[in-house]
Amino acid sequence: MTTHLPPVWPGAPASLLSADRRRRDIDVLSGRRVDVVVVGGGITGVGVALDAATRGLSVALIEANDLAYGTSRWSSKLVHGGLRYLASGKVGVAWESAVERERIMAAIAPHLTHPMAQVLPLVPGLDPRLVGAGLRAADTMRKVTGSHLARPSRIDLADAAAMVPGMTPDVTGAWLSWDGQLVDDARLVIAVARTAAAFGARILTHTRADALTADGLAVTDALSGESWVLRAARVVNATGAWGEHLDDRVKLVRSRGTHLVVASSSLGSPTAALMVPVEGSTSRFVFALPQPEGLTFIGLTDVETEDPLDDPRAHADEVDFLLHTINRGLAVPLGRDDIVSTYSGYRPLLAGVAGSTADLSRRHAVLDGDPLISVVGGKLTTYRRMAEDVVDLLSDRPCRTRRLPLVGAQPWQPDAGRLVTRFGGEASVVAELAQGDPAALVPIAGTPVLPVELLWARVAEGAVTTGDVLDRRLRLDLVPDWRKAVGAHLGSGASDVAMGPYTSSV
Ligand SMILES: Cc1cc2nc3c(=O)[nH]c(=O)nc-3n(C[C@H](O)[C@H](O)[C@H](O)COP(=O)(O)OP(=O)(O)OC[C@H]3O[C@@H](n4cnc5c(N)ncnc54)[C@H](O)[C@@H]3O)c2cc1C
Repeated sequence: MTTHLPPVWPGAPASLLSADRRRRDIDVLSGRRVDVVVVGGGITGVGVALDAATRGLSVALIEANDLAYGTSRWSSKLVHGGLRYLASGKVGVAWESAVERERIMAAIAPHLTHPMAQVLPLVPGLDPRLVGAGLRAADTMRKVTGSHLARPSRIDLADAAAMVPGMTPDVTGAWLSWDGQLVDDARLVIAVARTAAAFGARILTHTRADALTADGLAVTDALSGESWVLRAARVVNATGAWGEHLDDRVKLVRSRGTHLVVASSSLGSPTAALMVPVEGSTSRFVFALPQPEGLTFIGLTDVETEDPLDDPRAHADEVDFLLHTINRGLAVPLGRDDIVSTYSGYRPLLAGVAGSTADLSRRHAVLDGDPLISVVGGKLTTYRRMAEDVVDLLSDRPCRTRRLPLVGAQPWQPDAGRLVTRFGGEASVVAELAQGDPAALVPIAGTPVLPVELLWARVAEGAVTTGDVLDRRLRLDLVPDWRKAVGAHLGSGASDVAMGPYTSSV
């Protein structure tokens, strides 16, 4: 299918991001001063851009690579109610998570989130009373936040095995509980960025912040190589694990979290997540998390590291640890041959603020300053609250994002087709791009990807390089064989190259 679209076709919504819009926004911003420039296009940065734009501030967001290039695409893809924080006594963090989980699932992104059943087998060494107490505490948060998730319950082995057929029968019972699961973390980032754009934010990917200047930021366009000054009254540093580079008040410790990607069939195609306690711990679990398209992610590790920042990679001992722990809950153990791929991300932990030795741990922190504000830590689930805290320092107007639907928001539709699952209420607009060519709606051989998605990534979701399309929009970074097949279809092979605007052979 070869499609030539005009730069903006009639009726195109203001949220559409593209190479063409990027160029126009660069032209505008090179001659204008904005109220705030946000650095970093992960979930934190796009959340700040959206909150600021909805309060009427003029906003630019610059991202050195692509939206969701960093940690935000390497998560466990959960909007979680904070059970793991309760288990370690962090009630405040758990409460914030539970509140934000309900907002995301009910109002903000119901099309990208859904209830996920999780089965916790009572393996030898696990105290059932302790498990029950933890789940009941988490349930109090569920009730108080008005969540529609079901309450936790004890289930018998037959029910547990129906949901997780590969589970070991060698247990005394199981608990069933519920949490929130994302279709994909990068898709949440893209949806927040596009919603910000609809409110007027200018989103410049492939644009790196080099240094603060007297009246803003020196930036470099990674595609053209040109450097220029983006003038702004205030600068928000939302660069996650890169946070120390722009602000020397930020002192980070990095922890690597690794997941394995396996075919769901290798665990008997579970419909619920399996939670297996880490040997010798009552508060740490390894999860097997079923995903769309027949995949399951097994995670995660927590390893302090000083490895290079770009391209985080799993270490062999993490793979061994994940296999060893999950195999405690399985009837037939998984081996290295079952692994389709691995992925790892860096969790930036604030070690302390210069002049203070406070261990701020996994809480988010906002370091106020003029012109530079840094926001560090937190998690996907609490991105909106982090953004609200930042923009409260920039505006007297009330926050508008607590129940603001993102582009595509509509009630979750279980068992819907690929386009509805990934694009929610925009699925029919995506399908229309096929322009009567039925081949554009047939999966590319050996993959679940529809050719029309490649085009949508470029005309609506701001993908300007082949890597943007394959890795951040379609998430083929998770399955090398699918990436190869779709890369061949796109004509890019394995390389990551800039694409011309709007003319695509897909
Ligand atoms: C393994 C793992 C699993 C997790 N699972 C969950 C989960 O299931 N649920 C949950 O709620 N949370 C989870 N988290 C936490 C969550 O993923 C992170 O808190 C969140 O993604 C951090 O987002 P961020 O925007 O702050 O950072 P990032 O996503 O890393 O974004 C920072 C961005 O800044 C850009 N940047 C850096 N320097 C510059 C510069 N000079 N100029 C311009 N741009 C720059 C980078 O390219 C990057 O895109 C997990 C974390 C890890 C590590």
